[in-house]
Amino acid sequence: MSKIVVVGANHAGTACIKTMLSKDSNNEVVVFDSNSNISFLGCGMALWIGGQIRGSEGLFYSSKDELESMGAKIFMEAPVDRIDFENKKVYATLKDGTKKEESYDKIVLATGSWPIIPNVEGKDLENVQMVKLFQHAEEVIEKVKSDDIKSVAVVGAGYIGVELAEAFQRHGKKVTLVDIANTCLPAYYDPEFTELMRNNLQENGIELAFGQRMEKLEGEDGKVKRVITDKGSYDADMVVLCIGFRPNTDLGKDALDTFKNGAYVVDKHQRTSREDVYAIGDCATVYDNSVDDVNYIALATNAVRSGIVAAHNVIGVDLESVGVQGSNGICIYDLKMVSTGLTYSKATKLGINAAYTDFEDLQKPEFIEHDNEKVKIRIVYNKDTRVIIGAQIASKYDVSMAIHMFSLAIQEKVTIEKLSLTDIFFLPHFNKPYNYITMAAITAK
Ligand SMILES: Cc1cc2nc3c(=O)[nH]c(=O)nc-3n(C[C@H](O)[C@H](O)[C@H](O)COP(=O)(O)OP(=O)(O)OC[C@H]3O[C@@H](n4cnc5c(N)ncnc54)[C@H](O)[C@@H]3O)c2cc1C
Repeated sequence: MSKIVVVGANHAGTACIKTMLSKDSNNEVVVFDSNSNISFLGCGMALWIGGQIRGSEGLFYSSKDELESMGAKIFMEAPVDRIDFENKKVYATLKDGTKKEESYDKIVLATGSWPIIPNVEGKDLENVQMVKLFQHAEEVIEKVKSDDIKSVAVVGAGYIGVELAEAFQRHGKKVTLVDIANTCLPAYYDPEFTELMRNNLQENGIELAFGQRMEKLEGEDGKVKRVITDKGSYDADMVVLCIGFRPNTDLGKDALDTFKNGAYVVDKHQRTSREDVYAIGDCATVYDNSVDDVNYIALATNAVRSGIVAAHNVIGVDLESVGVQGSNGICIYDLKMVSTGLTYSKATKLGINAAYTDFEDLQKPEFIEHDNEKVKIRIVYNKDTRVIIGAQIASKYDVSMAIHMFSLAIQEKVTIEKLSLTDIFFLPHFNKPYNYITMAAITAK
C-alpha cells in the first residue's frame, strides 16, 4: 500500500484520482485543491456566458463527494504552499486557516495553468476580467446583465477569445476583438482558414483590431473605459484578457526540470525528473507526435489522458502515453473548424520541408439538395518522408469526426500516399464517391 498525494483536482487530477481508485483500492489517496469546485468544463464557459445553454449545472462531471465515495480524502480550498521533495512532505493551508503537513510515497502534481496578465497600465481597473475558473464566468455573467456594460473588448484572438467575442455579441454588446497577430487562431490554422473565421466574425458584427498591440487600458472612476493599442482606441466597459496561459509550477520549479515556458518536463509515463514525482495536465509537457518532441499544449483532453497514464504508473501498472497531436475544434456562429498537428505555416517555421494539399467541395453529391454544405480541407505533410503532419477542415457542416482520423494518421506516421488509398466508404447521405479526403490526398504533389 502506498500513500499518494495529488495536488490539484480539476480535469487532470480528477482523471488521475478516479483511475487510481477504480484500478486499485489499496492505496491511500489524499488530495488538495485550492479551489472550491472541481471538474469545471471551462470549455462550456462561452456557451454559458453567451446564453446558449441554460446554466452551469451540466458543466461539472465530478465532485468532492464522488471522489470521497471512491475512497479519496479531499481537502478543498486548501492550497499547497510548499513541497519538501527531499523528505517527501506537503505543506498546505486548510480552509479554516490551519496548517497541514502530509507525507507521501508518491506525488502527482496537477496544478494546471493560470491566465497570463500583461503588465500594462490599467490592468487593475474594475471590469478587467480574466476567464479561467467557474467563479470568473459567474462574475462576467453578472456584469454583462448590466446596461452599464455596453461595449466589451476581448484581448487575444485564440480559441477562447474568439468564443467569448461571439458570446458577448450574442448579448447585444458592441464587441472588439484585439490581437497583435494579423488574424485569429494562427496557432491552429493557416491563413486560408483564419480568413474564413475573420469574415465570419465581421459578418456577425464583431469589430476586429488585428495586428495591434494593446498598450494600456484607460478608465474613469476606477472602471475600465477604453483599450488603447498602438493603432487605435476602442471603447470598452469591460475588457477580457485572453492572451494565453502559464503553467502553475511554483511548487516544483526549483526542484524539477522545466520546459522553456516553465512547465514540468515529463516522460511518456508522466514522470518528472525526480523519482516518485509525476506531473499531469496543463502544468506539464506533452509528447507531440507532429514534431516528434516534447511540447506544451494546454487542453482538457491532454489533461485527462495524462491523468489516466500517470494513475496507472503510480499504482505500478506500466502504461506509456502515445503522445498527442494538439487536435482541436471551434464552432463560431455556424462556422465549424477543426485541426490537428502542424499548420503549413508552423511547419515551415520549424524548418520542416513541408507541403500541403487543399480540396474544397460539397460534402455530398449535388443531387442532395438539402443539408449539403461545402467542406474545405488542407492536409500538411513532410515532403521528404511523405508522412502526414497536420490537417485542417472547415465547414458549416459538422465534419469534426474526420479530424480524428488525421490525428491517428499523424500518431501512426501514415504517408499521404497511404491515405489516398484508405478505404473510405461512400453513401450519398454522407459523402461523395470521390470524397474530399481522398481527393485531397490523391492530388498531393
Ligand atoms: C475558457 C476556457 C475554455 C477552454 N476550452 C477548452 C476546450 O474547448 N477544449 C479543451 O480541450 N480545453 C479547453 N480549455 C483548456 C482546459 O480547460 C485546460 O486544459 C484544463 O483545465 C487543464 O486541466 P488541469 O486539471 O491540468 O488544470 P486546471 O484546470 O488549471 O486545474 C488545476 C487545479 O489545480 C488547483 N491548484 C493549483 N495550484 C494549487 C496549489 N498550490 N494547491 C492546491 N491546488 C492547486 C487549481 O485550483 C485547479 O483546480 C479551456 C480553458 C478555458 C479557460
